[in-house]
Amino acid sequence: MKYFIGNWKMFGIPASIKIIDRINNFLVRDKKNNKKYKIIIAPPHTLLQDFSNKFKTKKISICAQNCFQKGDFGAYTGFVSAFMIKKIGINHIIIGHSENRASGENDVIIKEKIFTALKNNLNIIFCIGENKNEKRKKLTLRVLKKQITNVLKKNYNLKKIIIAYEPVWSIGTGKVPKLRELQKTAFLLKKFLKSRFGGKYNFKLLYGGSVDNKSIRNFKLIKELDGFLIGGASKSSKKFIDIIRNFYK
Ligand code: PEP
Repeated sequence: MKYFIGNWKMFGIPASIKIIDRINNFLVRDKKNNKKYKIIIAPPHTLLQDFSNKFKTKKISICAQNCFQKGDFGAYTGFVSAFMIKKIGINHIIIGHSENRASGENDVIIKEKIFTALKNNLNIIFCIGENKNEKRKKLTLRVLKKQITNVLKKNYNLKKIIIAYEPVWSIGTGKVPKLRELQKTAFLLKKFLKSRFGGKYNFKLLYGGSVDNKSIRNFKLIKELDGFLIGGASKSSKKFIDIIRNFYK
């Protein structure tokens, strides 16, 4: 099963449901391939309840983009908890996105977020990735391993966690890793995950960073990847659908 996950970031109003409607229409008609992939869309908190109600009976899942790290309710103005997200019928959440890390989320906070998300039985898309400087110093793998080991515990229900490798320098920039480089990182990451967490569970690994209808033609050659986290291109039904079309072409 491949995953195509759209991260809308700070985008969307109630009328934006038409984007997901069009994607859903494509999915329903794509009889040849639609059993091979899962589509998940992450709109902002303001749209979660409405969209999740509308898509309750559909194959597309609606996903949250983040949650607060502590408690079910509390004196945390402006934040929402994993508990509140779960209670409106959401089953997926993105945690550790580099844009949130850039505004102060560190591994300690991300660990707490994953803990509270697991407690509420949410499926987690856990984002990791190196920045430009770390890449230049050839620290990519070391950084990724640290981001994982600082946060994931061996006794967690790992089936609830999908890893999204998103090089920070690639997000929203149009720059993507070289095919061979990404293949190697994906291979070594999966090998590391197996050795650290035991061979029983095969982690799903996504790539994210400037995925569009062109770059997908190369990415689809990497068999270690179980799917893609798509930012900018997920705000357009056409661009998002073209990515899936080109993946199966
Ligand atoms: C993202 O926000 O997770 C992302 C991958 O963005 P983009 O596709 O725009 O690079």
